[in-house]
Amino acid sequence: MLDYPDERRITTSVLVIGTGGAGLRAAIELAERGVDVLVLGKRPKADAHTTLAAGGINAALSTMDLEDSWQQHAADTITESYLLARPDTVRIVTENAARGIEDLERWGMPFARESDGRISQRFFGAHTYRRTAFAGDYTGLEIQRTLVNRAAQLGIRIIDTCYVTRILVRDNAVFGAYGFDLDNGGRYSFRADAVILAAGGHTRIWRRTSSRRDENTGDSFRLAVLAGGRIRDPELVQFHPSGLIEPENAAGTLVSEAARGEGGILRNADGERFMTRYDPERMELSTRDRVALAAYTEIKEGRGTPNGGVWLDISHLPRETIMRRLPRVYQTMLELQMLDITRSPIEIAPTAHYSMGGVWVRAHDHGTGVDGLYAIGEASSGLHGANRLGGNSLIELFVYGRIVGEAAAQYSEALLTHRRSDGALADARREVDELLAADGRENVRALQRTLRDTMTEHAGVVRSDTGLRAGLSELDELEQRITGIGVHPDPAGFQDLAHAFDLRSSMLAARATLEAAVERRETRGCHNRSDYPDIDPELRVNLVWSGPGKIEREPIPEVPAEIARLMRDVSTAGKLVE
Ligand SMILES: Cc1cc2nc3c(=O)[nH]c(=O)nc-3n(C[C@H](O)[C@H](O)[C@H](O)COP(=O)(O)OP(=O)(O)OC[C@H]3O[C@@H](n4cnc5c(N)ncnc54)[C@H](O)[C@@H]3O)c2cc1C
Repeated sequence: MLDYPDERRITTSVLVIGTGGAGLRAAIELAERGVDVLVLGKRPKADAHTTLAAGGINAALSTMDLEDSWQQHAADTITESYLLARPDTVRIVTENAARGIEDLERWGMPFARESDGRISQRFFGAHTYRRTAFAGDYTGLEIQRTLVNRAAQLGIRIIDTCYVTRILVRDNAVFGAYGFDLDNGGRYSFRADAVILAAGGHTRIWRRTSSRRDENTGDSFRLAVLAGGRIRDPELVQFHPSGLIEPENAAGTLVSEAARGEGGILRNADGERFMTRYDPERMELSTRDRVALAAYTEIKEGRGTPNGGVWLDISHLPRETIMRRLPRVYQTMLELQMLDITRSPIEIAPTAHYSMGGVWVRAHDHGTGVDGLYAIGEASSGLHGANRLGGNSLIELFVYGRIVGEAAAQYSEALLTHRRSDGALADARREVDELLAADGRENVRALQRTLRDTMTEHAGVVRSDTGLRAGLSELDELEQRITGIGVHPDPAGFQDLAHAFDLRSSMLAARATLEAAVERRETRGCHNRSDYPDIDPELRVNLVWSGPGKIEREPIPEVPAEIARLMRDVSTAGKLVE
């Protein structure tokens, strides 16, 4: 300790890593139960990734369609997951979803309502009934505001300039975490009975992604694995069909699927409406995985636009419709490209959007198998299988935020002894010291770019054994190069150090993804293998990765009869599919 006189040592009962919807919801549960909680984030709390969510949040409230039920919501979720969702997780989320919405209402969430005051619910693709509650096309922003306000009312401590580098563990039990301040580089060592990991997914390891810079860099994966946790189904990543190609620094930014929902047409470079070949019935309103695959195939087979995309055209729609129904798309395109979408088509390509896999967790409390360590939100796994039902990720934050908050509170309450390890703390300190002293020639940003190119080239929408193995050898080379990086914090902050840790996390997440993708020798949902074009019933399992070369198959329980009898393919015609 004497060697680190400026290190701030902070003690709390429960530490939450992540100030997005999942982390804040869990923290609120803890604070409402009177448990001391501290929340950490690496970007401003009002601007967590959750703010980007647009379309809505699901619960079978039956405000629009009386026939709806949690069982039907569960059936739709499992069908859409291509049978890889874990039925116990699905049941917990769908059965408790209405309560999640009630919590939000109680804290002042401005849901859209019908004239008689009922919460409005809209159709999202592949849902049997209207069950997606929303607030305009900025649902995530309103959710984040509601949670930040509630957290302030409860006096919850939040440090949103703290980059967490390690979770501290002794004998398979957590006792805290380590990190540094992004503004001034000051160190933090946190002591806690329990730690909740809510640090998002790993979609930023692809070149085009709907995450912003430095978000979803795979931190949850690395923090969990170094603490003794495991990763379930890292290969299952949802690619959204419509990401922007330019400008480079905004590559992957989503063009809302509402643009297709309102009548947008997809064309290749030859002007052909290519969805006629892939899904002649549903055309542009086909499911997200199919549209992404169609666009990818057109580009790969040489019918792409000059920048390697396809055209999304809404210019045939009346100008008033565009201004009324797609104002955000119109504004975004003007701001980013000076493009008037009432006159010109938009150049788009598939973009990495959502991590359906994540940290391995138990269904009933989202414990990770490491005592006192829990994971929630996009960081976790079990609900979505091989394709996420639109609107399900937001509700998961609320259902499991409450459950995990309760579980961590009980764990902390019951903990009789708190065993720490000087060795674990020393390792965490040394790791930061060594990176700060790194003075090599390799540039962190350039290596991040190379990694993203590797993943895009070899583990994108369509994969093959040859490609994935080529990706793994490129990763081996990158792992050599990372030893030669230089880290140079400047007076403006310690972002460069953060990027170096981001890179380490992304490398680990990339390895897990590539290795699991090799192992999943089938085509199922988002995971397309050109060398294994069919579903393999034997692979109706989750793949659990616990380190290089270590993958196990985890059986998935049978779907309960009351849910199985409701499962069927659902048409997406006329529905929003985001
Ligand atoms: C454009 C877009 C539209 C979407 N629309 C919908 C929708 O309509 N409906 C729906 O259900 N879902 C939607 N989603 C998905 C949904 O928004 C996310 O899955 C969800 O918000 C994830 O929340 P989270 O709390 O798990 O993680 P995040 O909101 O990503 O929060 C992660 C937190 O972890 C922190 N963090 C990460 N690493 C570290 C570290 N090393 N140290 C400290 N802090 C760290 C970050 O600062 C952040 O606070 C959409 C996503 C996008 C991108």
